[in-house]
Amino acid sequence: MAWTTIKKTATEKAQATLTEELRAGFDWAQARAQLDGFEDGGLNIAYEALDRHVLAGHGNEEAMLWFGKDGRSRRLTYADLTAETARFANILRAHGLTAGDRVFGLADRVPELYVAALGTLKAGMVFSPLFSAFGPEPLRTRMEIGEANALVTTATIYRRKIAAWRDELPSLKLVLIIGDDAPDGCVALGPAMTEASDRFETVQTRPEDPALIHFTSGTTGKPKGAVHVHNAVVMHAMAGRYALELTPGTRYWCTADPGWVTGTSFGIISPLVNRVRMLVDEADFDLERWYGLLQDEKIEVWYTAPTAIRMMMRAGAEIASRYDFSSLRFMASVGEPLNPEAVIWSHEVFGRPFHDNWWQTETGGIMIANTADMDIHPGSMGKPLPGIEAGIVARDGEDGAELRLCAPGEIGELALRPGWPSMMRAYLHEEERYRKCFVSGWYLSGDLAMRDSEGYFWFVGRADDLIKSSGHLIGPFEVESALIEHPAVVEAAVIGLPDETAGEIVKAYVALNPGFEPSEELERDIRGLARKRLGPAVAPREVVFRTSLPKTRSGKIMRRLLKARELGLPEGDISTLESDER
Ligand code: ATP
Ligand code: MG
Repeated sequence: MAWTTIKKTATEKAQATLTEELRAGFDWAQARAQLDGFEDGGLNIAYEALDRHVLAGHGNEEAMLWFGKDGRSRRLTYADLTAETARFANILRAHGLTAGDRVFGLADRVPELYVAALGTLKAGMVFSPLFSAFGPEPLRTRMEIGEANALVTTATIYRRKIAAWRDELPSLKLVLIIGDDAPDGCVALGPAMTEASDRFETVQTRPEDPALIHFTSGTTGKPKGAVHVHNAVVMHAMAGRYALELTPGTRYWCTADPGWVTGTSFGIISPLVNRVRMLVDEADFDLERWYGLLQDEKIEVWYTAPTAIRMMMRAGAEIASRYDFSSLRFMASVGEPLNPEAVIWSHEVFGRPFHDNWWQTETGGIMIANTADMDIHPGSMGKPLPGIEAGIVARDGEDGAELRLCAPGEIGELALRPGWPSMMRAYLHEEERYRKCFVSGWYLSGDLAMRDSEGYFWFVGRADDLIKSSGHLIGPFEVESALIEHPAVVEAAVIGLPDETAGEIVKAYVALNPGFEPSEELERDIRGLARKRLGPAVAPREVVFRTSLPKTRSGKIMRRLLKARELGLPEGDISTLESDER
């Protein structure tokens, strides 16, 4: 790709946690040995995230700094969180819940939600986060699939989204309401916490005991419930250290909502296991609020997503220049392809680039990453973390039942060798779908990518989104990145449409930066730039202007929806659809 490399200086490389030696000498048993566990091989995520630090004398260190939407704030130490989660675990037990029961969390980013997540794990129960902005139907479906036994939510959410159908979910025994008052049939969490004891002996779960159920984003279809076990904490600990540069005391901010896997794995578990000070902001994206928090709280490590980065780009570098980001030492991005333009922009504006990394709900933790010791090739996802074997594979043999490894530069499906600790153990009630993910000793991700001769991985697109035009294989990401280079374009989505002569033709949808208006001239100009960058065979034939692009609530562009509409096909599962202004 025609992008410059961002070289790391010798000092930057020396300061990085990950080194060539660590990569070469890595083994999972050693990574596990850095955690405490229990005497007979037991392991519990909550114990590793909280109890362990208190026992080692770090109870007074700050674990969480919380800012509410309304200007309130709270500081919680490791000892505070340990006591609060003990109270929460006692409440669950007092209401007759037992190990293995499923507790769902449904609230904005408030401390109680974090306490509920860890308190549930402490009690040996399974936690499943839901996204608070979901409507009643998506919530009901997920709680049905997950056979919820308890729910932690707020009175407002309960009345609006749960009350009407609660009785139709017989598994649901307990509804805890954050605050001091609760609707009929629910229990107010505030007074219950005050009454409960702050002592609780963390349940000695086994590494393979289920801990979390995470629903996928639903970008490609009906969301799947991925089951994760306590052993995942080994991955969370390691990936936090190596891919996010987390060390004890680091001031860290993960902007992802705990309703999704990133917000739990790297917004709760990984930071606490690594004993950092984490910032939690209840409010949604607000440019100046975010810049203010980065500056005032002297955030050192920041983990966010491409949609937010593109919004910052849209607002321009001038606003950013009014803030002091000198505390920031590492920035990472996940969830969607990070366009090269965004990496270069961040390097200029923050003085350091975003480090893209790739993983999925299914993988439970970061798999491929640009780490602090690596030079960055903007547009590349980086290289597999230690202990992770990734390959690019293509179907081979009769009926495509075999796989072969692709040569460097060849596009194929991104695959991983199963065996890392945070790999999903099942899709709930979908055994067949789960089994289909594994072929010839590989886990198939459903994403297309290629590996270059230096071992860097490049995202091409989702397997479903690949476009075949006049004998060319076209990945939407490459085309979208070229479109974003145009000063008028802030976001782009590209799909393939059937065409008699070419097989498929490329169509693009773009959202514009402020100060630009849709016009035929602009359309021609954007297509012109794409042609210059990509060549006529790959450049879009048509560019359509949209106020915004259809996205999942976790911020991913839903290309399949654009395509379905274009072809007049059913829209499929759109329970996670968020913005959709035409
Ligand atoms: P569903 O599986 O329900 O269709 P989803 O795949 O969007 O939804 P997630 O597990 O939240 O659900 O997202 C994982 C996917 O997000 C990856 O498979 C990949 O397509 C995309 N993704 C994540 N990080 C990156 C990245 N750094 N670069 C490119 N794509 C990414
Ligand atoms: Mg997926």
